Amino acid sequence: MKTYDVAVIGGGPSGAVAAILCARSGLKTVLVEKKSLPRAKSCAGGLTARCIRLLRDIDCFNDQLLQRTVNRLMIYYPDNRQFYELKSKEHCLGTVLRPEFDMALTDLAIQSGAEFREAESFTAYEQKPCRYLAIKTEMSDFGAKVLIGADGFHSRVRKQMIFEMGLPISKPMMLGIECDISMDQVRNLSPDHCHLFFNISKHTNYGWAFPKNDIFNIGLVLNGGNRKEPFRPPHPVHQLKFFLQKISTKEIQWDRIGAAPIPLFTNSRKSMIQKDNVLLIGDAADFADAWTGEGIYFGVKSAILAHRAIQNALANEKPIECLSSYSKLCNKFICRELNMSYRVSEMFKKFPSLYEYLQYPRVRQLFVPHTQGEISYQKALMKAFLIVSGYKLGLIK
Ligand SMILES: Cc1cc2nc3c(=O)[nH]c(=O)nc-3n(C[C@H](O)[C@H](O)[C@H](O)COP(=O)(O)OP(=O)(O)OC[C@H]3O[C@@H](n4cnc5c(N)ncnc54)[C@H](O)[C@@H]3O)c2cc1C
Repeated sequence: MKTYDVAVIGGGPSGAVAAILCARSGLKTVLVEKKSLPRAKSCAGGLTARCIRLLRDIDCFNDQLLQRTVNRLMIYYPDNRQFYELKSKEHCLGTVLRPEFDMALTDLAIQSGAEFREAESFTAYEQKPCRYLAIKTEMSDFGAKVLIGADGFHSRVRKQMIFEMGLPISKPMMLGIECDISMDQVRNLSPDHCHLFFNISKHTNYGWAFPKNDIFNIGLVLNGGNRKEPFRPPHPVHQLKFFLQKISTKEIQWDRIGAAPIPLFTNSRKSMIQKDNVLLIGDAADFADAWTGEGIYFGVKSAILAHRAIQNALANEKPIECLSSYSKLCNKFICRELNMSYRVSEMFKKFPSLYEYLQYPRVRQLFVPHTQGEISYQKALMKAFLIVSGYKLGLIK
Protein backbone atom coordinates (compact mmCIF):
# COMPACT_ATOMS: atom_id res chain seq x y z
CA MET A 1 0.00 0.00 0.00
CA LYS A 2 1.29 3.46 -0.87
CA THR A 3 2.11 5.58 2.19
CA TYR A 4 2.55 9.29 2.75
CA ASP A 5 3.68 11.53 5.56
CA VAL A 6 0.60 13.72 5.19
CA ALA A 7 -2.75 13.14 3.50
CA VAL A 8 -4.86 16.27 2.96
CA ILE A 9 -8.55 15.80 2.19
CA GLY A 10 -10.16 18.68 0.28
CA GLY A 11 -8.70 20.96 -2.39
CA GLY A 12 -10.22 24.27 -1.22
CA PRO A 13 -7.90 27.09 -0.10
CA SER A 14 -7.27 25.50 3.33
CA GLY A 15 -6.32 22.08 1.97
CA ALA A 16 -4.31 23.38 -0.98
CA VAL A 17 -2.25 25.70 1.24
CA ALA A 18 -1.62 22.88 3.74
CA ALA A 19 -0.47 20.62 0.87
CA ILE A 20 1.81 23.35 -0.56
CA LEU A 21 3.52 23.95 2.77
CA CYS A 22 3.91 20.26 3.65
CA ALA A 23 5.28 19.40 0.20
CA ARG A 24 7.67 22.35 0.26
CA SER A 25 9.16 21.17 3.52
CA GLY A 26 9.93 17.79 2.01
CA LEU A 27 7.04 15.80 3.48
CA LYS A 28 5.54 13.19 1.18
CA THR A 29 2.10 14.70 0.67
CA VAL A 30 -1.10 13.69 -1.09
CA LEU A 31 -4.01 16.05 -1.75
CA VAL A 32 -7.39 14.36 -2.34
CA GLU A 33 -10.26 16.32 -3.93
CA LYS A 34 -13.62 14.77 -4.68
CA LYS A 35 -14.44 17.07 -7.59
CA SER A 36 -12.70 17.81 -10.88
CA LEU A 37 -11.07 21.23 -10.98
CA PRO A 38 -11.97 23.98 -11.64
CA ARG A 39 -14.95 23.38 -9.38
CA ALA A 40 -17.66 25.83 -8.38
CA LYS A 41 -17.81 27.03 -4.77
CA SER A 42 -20.49 29.37 -3.57
CA CYS A 43 -18.48 32.32 -2.24
CA ALA A 44 -18.21 36.08 -2.68
CA GLY A 45 -14.48 35.70 -3.32
CA GLY A 46 -13.61 38.62 -1.05
CA LEU A 47 -10.06 38.49 0.32
CA THR A 48 -9.38 40.92 3.15
CA ALA A 49 -6.03 42.71 3.09
CA ARG A 50 -4.91 40.54 6.03
CA CYS A 51 -5.70 37.40 4.01
CA ILE A 52 -3.79 38.61 0.95
CA ARG A 53 -0.84 39.54 3.15
CA LEU A 54 -0.87 36.09 4.79
CA LEU A 55 -0.88 34.37 1.39
CA ARG A 56 1.92 36.63 0.13
CA ASP A 57 4.00 35.94 3.25
CA ILE A 58 4.01 32.22 2.44
CA ASP A 59 4.53 32.87 -1.26
CA CYS A 60 1.14 31.46 -2.25
CA PHE A 61 -0.43 34.46 -3.94
CA ASN A 62 -0.51 35.31 -7.60
CA ASP A 63 -1.56 38.95 -8.04
CA GLN A 64 -2.94 38.18 -11.49
CA LEU A 65 -5.81 36.35 -9.79
CA LEU A 66 -7.11 39.59 -8.34
CA GLN A 67 -10.13 40.85 -10.21
CA ARG A 68 -10.19 44.13 -8.30
CA THR A 69 -8.67 45.69 -5.20
CA VAL A 70 -10.48 48.44 -3.35
CA ASN A 71 -9.43 50.93 -0.73
CA ARG A 72 -12.93 52.31 -0.28
CA LEU A 73 -15.84 50.75 1.56
CA MET A 74 -19.40 51.98 1.43
CA ILE A 75 -21.42 51.17 4.55
CA TYR A 76 -25.21 51.37 4.36
CA TYR A 77 -27.34 51.64 7.48
CA PRO A 78 -30.22 51.52 8.22
CA ASP A 79 -32.26 50.15 5.37
CA ASN A 80 -30.08 51.79 2.69
CA ARG A 81 -31.31 55.24 3.66
CA GLN A 82 -27.97 56.36 5.02
CA PHE A 83 -24.54 55.51 3.75
CA TYR A 84 -21.02 56.34 4.72
CA GLU A 85 -17.83 56.09 2.76
CA LEU A 86 -14.65 54.75 4.35
CA LYS A 87 -11.30 55.36 2.69
CA SER A 88 -7.88 54.03 3.46
CA LYS A 89 -4.43 54.60 1.96
CA GLU A 90 -3.78 50.88 1.55
CA HIS A 91 -6.30 48.55 -0.06
CA CYS A 92 -8.62 46.79 2.38
CA LEU A 93 -10.15 44.12 0.13
CA GLY A 94 -9.41 42.26 -3.09
CA THR A 95 -11.77 40.05 -5.06
CA VAL A 96 -11.11 36.75 -6.86
CA LEU A 97 -13.13 34.14 -8.73
CA ARG A 98 -13.11 31.06 -6.51
CA PRO A 99 -12.81 28.38 -9.25
CA GLU A 100 -9.68 30.14 -10.60
CA PHE A 101 -8.26 30.95 -7.18
CA ASP A 102 -8.66 27.43 -5.80
CA MET A 103 -7.26 25.86 -8.95
CA ALA A 104 -4.18 28.11 -8.85
CA LEU A 105 -3.49 27.04 -5.27
CA THR A 106 -3.88 23.36 -6.17
CA ASP A 107 -1.54 23.82 -9.15
CA LEU A 108 0.98 25.32 -6.76
CA ALA A 109 0.62 22.29 -4.46
CA ILE A 110 1.39 20.00 -7.43
CA GLN A 111 4.37 22.15 -8.47
CA SER A 112 5.60 22.01 -4.87
CA GLY A 113 5.68 18.21 -5.07
CA ALA A 114 2.31 17.10 -3.66
CA GLU A 115 0.53 14.25 -5.41
CA PHE A 116 -2.95 15.32 -6.47
CA ARG A 117 -5.80 12.81 -6.55
CA GLU A 118 -8.62 14.52 -8.40
CA ALA A 119 -12.25 13.39 -8.55
CA GLU A 120 -11.58 10.95 -5.70
CA SER A 121 -13.76 11.06 -2.63
CA PHE A 122 -12.44 10.28 0.87
CA THR A 123 -14.68 7.82 2.72
CA ALA A 124 -13.03 6.81 6.02
CA TYR A 125 -9.85 6.43 8.03
CA GLU A 126 -8.76 3.82 10.52
CA GLN A 127 -6.17 4.13 13.30
CA LYS A 128 -3.63 1.30 13.00
CA PRO A 129 -0.93 0.37 15.54
CA CYS A 130 1.93 2.91 15.93
CA ARG A 131 -0.39 5.79 15.09
CA TYR A 132 -0.41 4.93 11.45
CA LEU A 133 -3.60 5.76 9.54
CA ALA A 134 -5.20 3.62 6.87
CA ILE A 135 -7.18 5.91 4.58
CA LYS A 136 -9.96 4.87 2.22
CA THR A 137 -11.33 6.72 -0.75
CA GLU A 138 -13.99 5.54 -3.19
CA MET A 139 -11.17 4.47 -5.52
CA SER A 140 -8.18 3.40 -3.44
CA ASP A 141 -6.57 2.72 -0.07
CA PHE A 142 -3.38 4.30 1.18
CA GLY A 143 -1.58 5.07 4.43
CA ALA A 144 -0.41 8.27 6.14
CA LYS A 145 1.21 9.41 9.35
CA VAL A 146 -1.03 12.47 9.60
CA LEU A 147 -4.45 13.21 8.14
CA ILE A 148 -5.64 16.77 7.56
CA GLY A 149 -9.39 17.19 7.11
CA ALA A 150 -9.87 20.25 4.91
CA ASP A 151 -13.08 18.96 3.40
CA GLY A 152 -15.29 21.92 4.16
CA PHE A 153 -18.52 22.41 6.08
CA HIS A 154 -19.84 18.87 5.44
CA SER A 155 -16.47 17.33 6.40
CA ARG A 156 -16.49 13.55 6.43
CA VAL A 157 -13.27 13.52 8.41
CA ARG A 158 -14.97 15.61 11.06
CA LYS A 159 -18.07 13.40 11.08
CA GLN A 160 -15.95 10.32 11.78
CA MET A 161 -14.07 12.15 14.53
CA ILE A 162 -17.32 13.28 16.17
CA PHE A 163 -18.74 9.77 15.92
CA GLU A 164 -15.63 8.25 17.54
CA MET A 165 -15.66 10.80 20.34
CA GLY A 166 -19.39 10.34 20.94
CA LEU A 167 -20.09 14.06 20.60
CA PRO A 168 -23.37 15.62 19.37
CA ILE A 169 -23.44 16.41 15.65
CA SER A 170 -25.78 19.38 15.88
CA LYS A 171 -23.95 22.65 15.24
CA PRO A 172 -25.22 26.14 14.59
CA MET A 173 -24.58 27.58 11.17
CA MET A 174 -25.18 30.59 8.96
CA LEU A 175 -26.23 30.49 5.35
CA GLY A 176 -24.53 32.45 2.60
CA ILE A 177 -26.50 33.15 -0.56
CA GLU A 178 -24.94 35.01 -3.47
CA CYS A 179 -25.37 35.79 -7.14
CA ASP A 180 -23.40 37.37 -9.98
CA ILE A 181 -25.03 40.23 -11.86
CA SER A 182 -23.76 42.39 -14.69
CA MET A 183 -22.57 45.83 -13.62
CA ASP A 184 -24.93 47.74 -15.89
CA GLN A 185 -27.87 46.50 -13.78
CA VAL A 186 -26.71 48.40 -10.71
CA ARG A 187 -25.32 51.64 -12.07
CA ASN A 188 -25.95 53.27 -8.68
CA LEU A 189 -23.22 51.08 -7.12
CA SER A 190 -19.67 52.27 -7.72
CA PRO A 191 -17.34 49.47 -8.90
CA ASP A 192 -14.49 51.17 -7.01
CA HIS A 193 -16.08 50.32 -3.68
CA CYS A 194 -17.02 47.25 -1.70
CA HIS A 195 -20.54 47.82 -0.43
CA LEU A 196 -21.70 46.50 2.95
CA PHE A 197 -25.36 46.68 4.00
CA PHE A 198 -26.21 46.31 7.70
CA ASN A 199 -29.44 45.59 9.56
CA ILE A 200 -31.39 44.70 6.43
CA SER A 201 -33.72 42.35 8.30
CA LYS A 202 -33.78 40.35 11.52
CA HIS A 203 -32.77 37.24 9.55
CA THR A 204 -29.68 38.80 8.05
CA ASN A 205 -26.22 39.52 9.45
CA TYR A 206 -25.38 41.75 6.53
CA GLY A 207 -25.44 42.06 2.76
CA TRP A 208 -22.62 42.79 0.34
CA ALA A 209 -21.90 43.85 -3.22
CA PHE A 210 -18.30 43.07 -4.25
CA PRO A 211 -17.03 44.29 -7.64
CA LYS A 212 -15.18 41.87 -9.95
CA ASN A 213 -13.87 42.66 -13.46
CA ASP A 214 -17.26 43.07 -15.13
CA ILE A 215 -19.77 41.79 -12.60
CA PHE A 216 -20.91 42.43 -9.06
CA ASN A 217 -21.17 39.53 -6.65
CA ILE A 218 -24.11 40.35 -4.41
CA GLY A 219 -25.27 38.33 -1.44
CA LEU A 220 -26.41 37.93 2.12
CA VAL A 221 -25.17 36.21 5.27
CA LEU A 222 -28.34 34.82 6.84
CA ASN A 223 -28.77 33.58 10.38
CA GLY A 224 -29.12 29.84 10.03
CA GLY A 225 -30.59 27.03 12.06
CA ASN A 226 -28.26 24.21 12.97
CA ARG A 227 -27.05 21.10 11.18
CA LYS A 228 -29.96 18.99 12.42
CA GLU A 229 -32.55 21.62 11.75
CA PRO A 230 -31.36 23.64 8.77
CA PHE A 231 -32.59 26.96 7.54
CA ARG A 232 -36.23 27.94 8.07
CA PRO A 233 -38.36 30.30 5.98
CA PRO A 234 -38.43 33.05 4.78
CA HIS A 235 -36.82 31.32 1.84
CA PRO A 236 -33.25 32.53 1.21
CA VAL A 237 -33.92 33.14 -2.51
CA HIS A 238 -36.85 35.40 -1.62
CA GLN A 239 -34.66 37.25 0.84
CA LEU A 240 -32.02 37.75 -1.85
CA LYS A 241 -34.65 38.97 -4.35
CA PHE A 242 -35.99 41.38 -1.76
CA PHE A 243 -32.47 42.66 -1.11
CA LEU A 244 -31.80 43.14 -4.84
CA GLN A 245 -35.03 45.12 -5.15
CA LYS A 246 -33.80 47.41 -2.41
CA ILE A 247 -30.51 48.20 -4.09
CA SER A 248 -31.80 48.64 -7.61
CA THR A 249 -34.80 50.42 -9.00
CA LYS A 250 -35.36 47.89 -11.81
CA GLU A 251 -35.75 44.12 -11.77
CA ILE A 252 -32.37 42.40 -11.62
CA GLN A 253 -31.53 39.21 -13.53
CA TRP A 254 -28.69 37.15 -12.11
CA ASP A 255 -26.21 35.25 -14.28
CA ARG A 256 -25.53 32.67 -11.57
CA ILE A 257 -26.84 32.01 -8.07
CA GLY A 258 -25.38 29.87 -5.28
CA ALA A 259 -25.83 29.20 -1.59
CA ALA A 260 -23.94 27.24 1.03
CA PRO A 261 -23.74 26.93 4.80
CA ILE A 262 -21.10 28.86 6.70
CA PRO A 263 -19.96 27.32 10.00
CA LEU A 264 -20.79 29.33 13.08
CA PHE A 265 -17.90 29.19 15.51
CA THR A 266 -19.37 29.53 18.97
CA ASN A 267 -17.02 28.38 21.71
CA SER A 268 -13.37 27.37 21.46
CA ARG A 269 -13.53 24.97 24.39
CA LYS A 270 -16.13 22.84 22.69
CA SER A 271 -14.59 23.21 19.26
CA MET A 272 -13.45 20.13 17.44
CA ILE A 273 -10.04 20.68 15.96
CA GLN A 274 -7.98 17.55 16.45
CA LYS A 275 -7.89 13.97 17.61
CA ASP A 276 -4.38 12.54 17.81
CA ASN A 277 -2.90 12.61 14.30
CA VAL A 278 -6.12 13.74 12.61
CA LEU A 279 -6.29 17.54 12.28
CA LEU A 280 -9.14 19.70 11.00
CA ILE A 281 -8.57 23.01 9.24
CA GLY A 282 -10.73 25.71 7.60
CA ASP A 283 -14.50 25.20 7.39
CA ALA A 284 -14.08 21.58 8.55
CA ALA A 285 -12.93 23.02 11.90
CA ASP A 286 -15.72 25.63 11.87
CA PHE A 287 -13.18 28.41 11.37
CA ALA A 288 -15.26 31.28 9.99
CA ASP A 289 -16.01 34.72 11.38
CA ALA A 290 -19.45 34.60 13.00
CA TRP A 291 -20.30 38.15 11.98
CA THR A 292 -18.87 38.54 8.49
CA GLY A 293 -18.65 34.91 7.34
CA GLU A 294 -14.99 35.44 6.36
CA GLY A 295 -13.48 31.97 6.15
CA ILE A 296 -10.58 32.01 3.68
CA TYR A 297 -8.26 33.91 6.02
CA PHE A 298 -8.92 31.47 8.87
CA GLY A 299 -8.60 28.49 6.51
CA VAL A 300 -5.16 29.66 5.37
CA LYS A 301 -4.10 30.55 8.90
CA SER A 302 -5.12 27.11 10.24
CA ALA A 303 -3.27 25.43 7.34
CA ILE A 304 -0.12 27.33 8.34
CA LEU A 305 -0.52 26.30 11.99
CA ALA A 306 -1.18 22.66 11.03
CA HIS A 307 1.95 22.62 8.89
CA ARG A 308 3.98 24.13 11.72
CA ALA A 309 2.85 21.42 14.17
CA ILE A 310 3.34 18.60 11.64
CA GLN A 311 6.76 19.74 10.52
CA ASN A 312 7.88 20.07 14.11
CA ALA A 313 6.67 16.56 14.96
CA LEU A 314 7.72 14.70 11.79
CA ALA A 315 10.96 16.45 10.86
CA ASN A 316 12.37 16.02 14.36
CA GLU A 317 10.93 12.50 14.65
CA LYS A 318 9.21 13.56 17.84
CA PRO A 319 6.37 11.44 19.24
CA ILE A 320 3.08 12.02 17.46
CA GLU A 321 1.71 13.52 20.72
CA CYS A 322 3.67 16.67 19.79
CA LEU A 323 1.00 17.30 17.18
CA SER A 324 -1.27 18.48 19.99
CA SER A 325 0.57 21.80 19.65
CA TYR A 326 -1.82 22.36 16.70
CA SER A 327 -4.85 22.72 19.02
CA LYS A 328 -2.90 25.06 21.28
CA LEU A 329 -1.81 27.23 18.37
CA CYS A 330 -5.39 27.39 17.06
CA ASN A 331 -6.74 28.35 20.47
CA LYS A 332 -4.22 31.17 20.68
CA PHE A 333 -4.24 32.53 17.14
CA ILE A 334 -7.71 31.69 15.81
CA CYS A 335 -10.30 30.67 18.41
CA ARG A 336 -9.99 33.77 20.58
CA GLU A 337 -10.70 36.04 17.63
CA LEU A 338 -13.56 33.83 16.44
CA ASN A 339 -15.10 33.76 19.91
CA MET A 340 -15.10 37.53 19.86
CA SER A 341 -16.67 37.58 16.39
CA TYR A 342 -19.45 35.40 17.79
CA ARG A 343 -20.01 37.78 20.70
CA VAL A 344 -20.03 40.78 18.40
CA SER A 345 -22.56 39.19 16.05
CA GLU A 346 -24.80 38.18 18.99
CA MET A 347 -24.56 41.71 20.37
CA PHE A 348 -25.72 43.25 17.09
CA LYS A 349 -28.52 40.70 16.78
CA LYS A 350 -29.82 41.46 20.28
CA PHE A 351 -29.29 45.20 20.09
CA PRO A 352 -29.62 46.33 16.46
CA SER A 353 -29.74 49.91 17.73
CA LEU A 354 -25.96 49.57 18.18
CA TYR A 355 -25.67 50.13 14.44
CA GLU A 356 -26.61 53.73 15.20
CA TYR A 357 -23.04 54.20 16.39
CA LEU A 358 -21.90 53.92 12.78
CA GLN A 359 -22.95 57.56 12.53
CA TYR A 360 -19.71 58.40 14.39
CA PRO A 361 -16.92 58.61 11.80
CA ARG A 362 -14.23 57.33 14.14
CA VAL A 363 -16.32 54.27 15.02
CA ARG A 364 -17.02 53.23 11.44
CA GLN A 365 -13.41 53.93 10.46
CA LEU A 366 -12.47 50.96 12.72
CA PHE A 367 -13.63 48.63 9.91
CA VAL A 368 -10.55 49.52 7.91
CA PRO A 369 -7.76 48.43 10.31
CA HIS A 370 -9.83 45.34 11.11
CA THR A 371 -9.90 44.15 7.49
CA GLN A 372 -6.19 44.93 7.33
CA GLY A 373 -5.54 42.71 10.36
CA GLU A 374 -4.16 45.57 12.40
CA ILE A 375 -6.78 45.50 15.12
CA SER A 376 -8.61 42.61 16.79
CA TYR A 377 -12.33 42.57 17.60
CA GLN A 378 -11.49 43.05 21.25
CA LYS A 379 -9.42 46.17 20.58
CA ALA A 380 -11.96 47.50 18.08
CA LEU A 381 -14.77 47.11 20.63
CA MET A 382 -12.79 48.83 23.34
CA LYS A 383 -11.89 51.67 21.01
CA ALA A 384 -15.51 51.98 19.84
CA PHE A 385 -16.67 52.18 23.45
CA LEU A 386 -14.16 54.95 24.24
CA ILE A 387 -14.98 56.86 21.07
CA VAL A 388 -18.76 56.71 21.68
CA SER A 389 -18.24 57.85 25.28
CA GLY A 390 -16.06 60.68 23.98
CA TYR A 391 -18.76 61.83 21.55
CA LYS A 392 -21.50 61.58 24.19
CA LEU A 393 -19.53 63.53 26.74
CA GLY A 394 -18.75 66.15 24.13
CA LEU A 395 -15.01 65.43 24.30
CA ILE A 396 -14.95 64.51 20.58
CA LYS A 397 -16.71 66.71 18.04
C1 LIG B 1 -22.12 32.60 -0.03
C2 LIG B 1 -20.80 32.58 0.65
C3 LIG B 1 -19.94 33.67 0.52
C4 LIG B 1 -18.69 33.66 1.13
N1 LIG B 1 -17.87 34.72 0.95
C5 LIG B 1 -16.64 34.72 1.50
C6 LIG B 1 -15.75 35.79 1.26
O1 LIG B 1 -16.04 36.72 0.51
N2 LIG B 1 -14.53 35.76 1.85
C7 LIG B 1 -14.17 34.73 2.68
O2 LIG B 1 -13.05 34.77 3.24
N3 LIG B 1 -15.00 33.69 2.92
C8 LIG B 1 -16.21 33.64 2.34
N4 LIG B 1 -17.03 32.57 2.53
C9 LIG B 1 -16.55 31.43 3.32
C10 LIG B 1 -15.55 30.62 2.47
O3 LIG B 1 -16.15 30.28 1.24
C11 LIG B 1 -15.13 29.34 3.20
O4 LIG B 1 -14.80 29.67 4.53
C12 LIG B 1 -13.91 28.72 2.51
O5 LIG B 1 -14.27 28.24 1.25
C13 LIG B 1 -13.37 27.58 3.36
O6 LIG B 1 -12.33 26.95 2.65
P1 LIG B 1 -12.00 25.41 2.91
O7 LIG B 1 -10.83 25.10 2.05
O8 LIG B 1 -11.88 25.17 4.36
O9 LIG B 1 -13.29 24.62 2.43
P2 LIG B 1 -13.95 24.56 0.96
O10 LIG B 1 -13.61 25.74 0.19
O11 LIG B 1 -15.37 24.22 1.19
O12 LIG B 1 -13.23 23.32 0.29
C14 LIG B 1 -13.47 22.00 0.73
C15 LIG B 1 -13.07 21.07 -0.40
O13 LIG B 1 -13.17 19.71 0.06
C16 LIG B 1 -13.73 18.92 -0.97
N5 LIG B 1 -14.31 17.73 -0.34
C17 LIG B 1 -15.44 17.67 0.40
N6 LIG B 1 -15.66 16.40 0.80
C18 LIG B 1 -14.65 15.65 0.31
C19 LIG B 1 -14.33 14.25 0.35
N7 LIG B 1 -15.10 13.37 1.00
N8 LIG B 1 -13.21 13.83 -0.29
C20 LIG B 1 -12.42 14.71 -0.96
N9 LIG B 1 -12.68 16.04 -1.05
C21 LIG B 1 -13.78 16.50 -0.41
C22 LIG B 1 -14.75 19.83 -1.62
O14 LIG B 1 -15.07 19.40 -2.95
C23 LIG B 1 -14.02 21.17 -1.61
O15 LIG B 1 -13.26 21.37 -2.77
C24 LIG B 1 -18.29 32.54 1.93
C25 LIG B 1 -19.15 31.46 2.06
C26 LIG B 1 -20.37 31.45 1.43
C27 LIG B 1 -21.27 30.27 1.56
